[in-house]
Order: sequence, then structure tokens, then C-alpha cells
Amino acid sequence: MNDIIVAKFGGSSLADSQQFAKVKKIIESDNRRRYIIPSAPGKRDKKDHKITDLLYMCQQLAAHNLSFDDIYNIVKKRFLDICSDLNLSFGMEDILDEIKEKIAHGASRDYAASRGEYLNGLILSNYLGYEFIDAEELILFDKTGKFDAKATDDKVNARLADVSHAVIPGFYGVMPNGEIKTFSRGGSDITGAIIAKGVMAQLYENWTDVSGFLMADPRIVKDSKPMEKVTYKELRELSYMGASVLHEEAIFPTREAGIPINIKNTNAPEDAGTMILSDISPVSHTGTITGIAGKKDFTVISIEKTFMGSDRSFFRKLMTIMETNDISVEHMPSSIDSISLIISDSELNSKLQKVVEEIRIYCNPDSIICYPNMALVAVVGRGMINTKGISAKVFTALAKEGINIRMITQGSSELNIIIGIENGDFERAIKAIYEAFQ
Ligand code: ADP
Ligand code: ASP
Ligand code: MG
Repeated sequence: MNDIIVAKFGGSSLADSQQFAKVKKIIESDNRRRYIIPSAPGKRDKKDHKITDLLYMCQQLAAHNLSFDDIYNIVKKRFLDICSDLNLSFGMEDILDEIKEKIAHGASRDYAASRGEYLNGLILSNYLGYEFIDAEELILFDKTGKFDAKATDDKVNARLADVSHAVIPGFYGVMPNGEIKTFSRGGSDITGAIIAKGVMAQLYENWTDVSGFLMADPRIVKDSKPMEKVTYKELRELSYMGASVLHEEAIFPTREAGIPINIKNTNAPEDAGTMILSDISPVSHTGTITGIAGKKDFTVISIEKTFMGSDRSFFRKLMTIMETNDISVEHMPSSIDSISLIISDSELNSKLQKVVEEIRIYCNPDSIICYPNMALVAVVGRGMINTKGISAKVFTALAKEGINIRMITQGSSELNIIIGIENGDFERAIKAIYEAFQ
């Protein structure tokens, strides 16, 4: 491990010049913070727009030969205001005009979206006096658009070996033909993790607008408590289940390299935040939970068939139906004579009727019932292993609120319990479970 911290700053941390000033102060307060990964400017308040969203809109309008001047002017003003507030002059207006030209002449969706990070990176490098290294040089995708971890790792290692301080924009990289390719939304978190691994940093700091990973989504539970420490495994369960503070794919590079992640708050840098670690030993059997997360909009297909298990081909047929319809199943709890397929509506689209029909024909069940509008809530905690009473506490809390539990499943890692409820009960359920563990 090297004496280096890679620090990624999210959209709200770089939304305007005041936020830039906070970021500069943070970076300069620890000289190990040598590689900085900025996102595009995010929202300054609830009604504001994210620059990335506006750039997507510009590209879409341009692709339909519609004028995107008005929207691009908003983007332009945001960047020019930041530059003038910070007394920076390095030809930003010309760069913005060139980008506009490219979008007008058919630049790709990924190219347009990536410019938010690119421009913010230029500003931050000028403001800090750090070298600017374009992500195009470092983050490599293969010709099918898949991220190439090995080639990127080698490149980062070689390119940064002699660069003591640099700003590297998040979110995007390049394909072999020179085309810009972005990660999925929120992907600057991934860039930060990749750079941290490439330089074998001792720590990856992820600076955002909350004081760490909170036990529950702060938009649902006000004053939700931050977690002091959390394992990669728990975090993976929570972020997969909707705790959106860190992109779920950002976990892999750092976990592989054994680099801890510290989630910190740009607006309260003195707060400890959350440490994400490979192992927290000894595992405490405290009877408490680490966190709660959840997602809405699932459909459950509940299938009953007597002696299901003795029909040797039943599960194969069921899985083949899912495969041929290109549907991935989220969970599949089963008992002796029944099985439920829990499928996200975004996977199912309009295929429900067809799938049910095929199950009826090929699997010959006694009954099939579909439950739409379901939500899943995951209660996660390493301290849950071998501790009695956690499930009871969760179910009692939901019963007290009069919330109907449609399904329960425990992950094989014994790290989580997943509960199926109706969409309409989602927020109430999370609040009730949170309260039960205070
Ligand atoms: P950034 O722009 O810094 O990447 P994000 O918006 O991607 O920030 O992530 C931070 C947001 O994640 C918080 O403002 C909060 O609303 C939301 N969030 C959802 N679940 C959680 C959670 N369990 N803990 C903390 N934040 C959460
Ligand atoms: N700016 C990109 C987005 O809004 C990436 C990021 O913020 O991480 O998705
Ligand atoms: Mg984010």
C-alpha cells in the first residue's frame, strides 16, 4: 500500500463555487490526497437540475434535429459562473462552444454525458493547480463496451507513476476505436475505486452530501444514524437493494485490492463518516442490524405443484422459460410444494402473460397466482448471524403497523432477511423496522 488517498467528490460536492472552495480546503488539509476524481455539478437544491441530465437532454434534442440552445445555455452558465466566481480564466467559453458544436453534429449520448465530468475536471485542476489527466487516457473499455479491468490497471499504474498530483474526471473512459464510453449512472464512484486500485492507495475517500452510509435512506427516515463501520459484503447487499449512496460496482476493485473506502460529508468534513472494510473482526453478535434498504415495483409469480421436487425436470423447465424470455429472477423462495419467482417489473416489461402461459404449458402446475406492485425490503447485518430474535423483532414491528408480509426469505449468507410487502407499505415498513432497532 502507498501513502496515497484517492478522493472522489460527488455532484453535490461540486455543484457551485462555494462547494468547490470546501473541496479545495478538504484536499489541502491532507497531503496524501493526491488523485482527485470529480463528478459533474449536481443539484444545488431540490428543484435544481444535474448537469448530466441536461447534457443527455441536449444530445437527445440534437439527435432529433431540434434546437437545444436553451438547455445548453443553462449548462454553459453553470460552468462559466463557477469559473468567474473562482477567478479562473483558461478559455472555458471556447471549450464549451466546441462541445456544443460536436453535440449539434451528432456526437454520441455517452460523449455528451461525459462532458459534465470533463469540464468539472478542468475547472478543479486549474483551481487546485493539479495536473489534468483525461479519463480517456486511463479508463479502457473493450470493443464490445465492457470495462477492461486488466488493461486499465496497467495503464493507471504506468501513467500515474511519475505524476504526484492529478485530477481525473469520473464516469467515463474510451473504447479501442476512440469513442467515449460511460459507466452507468452514478459511475464516478467506479472511476474512483479503479484509480485507488491502480495506484494501490491506502484509502479511497468518497465525498458526498451525507455523513456516511446511513442505516436507512434519509429521504425515508429523517435523522437516520450513520454506520461507523460496515463490511463489503453488507454494503453490497444494501447497495444492491437500493441504498444508492455508492454505486454497487464501485465495491469490486477496492475489495479485491483490500483498500478500505471512507464515505465522508463535504459539508461536515469533521464527521467520521463510514468505513467500509473487508473484515470487521471479531464479528459481533450484538443482535443489532447494520442497515435497511429496499426497492419497489416487483411482481411475484407464485407456483404450486404437489410433489414438485419429484418432477425431475420441473426446475429446469422453469429456468428455461426465464432464460428464453431473457428475464433475470431476483429471488426464488420455495417450499415442498410451491415456489415463488420474484421479478423486477423492469425485467418483466410486458412479458408477464406470455411467461405465465408458458409455465402453465411446460411445467403443468396446480396453480399460478401473480402478485403485482410488490416491494422488497432487506434487513442486513453481520451481527445477525446466530442471533435469535432479529426476525421476530422485524415481524413484530411490521405487524404493529398493520403491514402484511407477503414473503420472507433469508439469504444463504445469513447476512440478510428479505421481506416482500406491498408497494404502498414501503416507506412505513422501513420506518417501523428502523424504529424497532433503536
Ligand atoms: P453523490 O452525488 O455525492 O455521488 P449520491 O446522490 O449518489 O451522491 O448519493 C448520496 C445520496 O444517497 C444521499 O444524499 C441520500 O439521499 C441517498 N441515500 C440513499 N440511501 C442512503 C443511505 N442508506 N445512506 C446514505 N445516503 C443514502
Ligand atoms: N454525473 C454522472 C451521473 O449523474 C456520474 C456520477 O455522478 O457519478 O450519473
Ligand atoms: Mg453518486
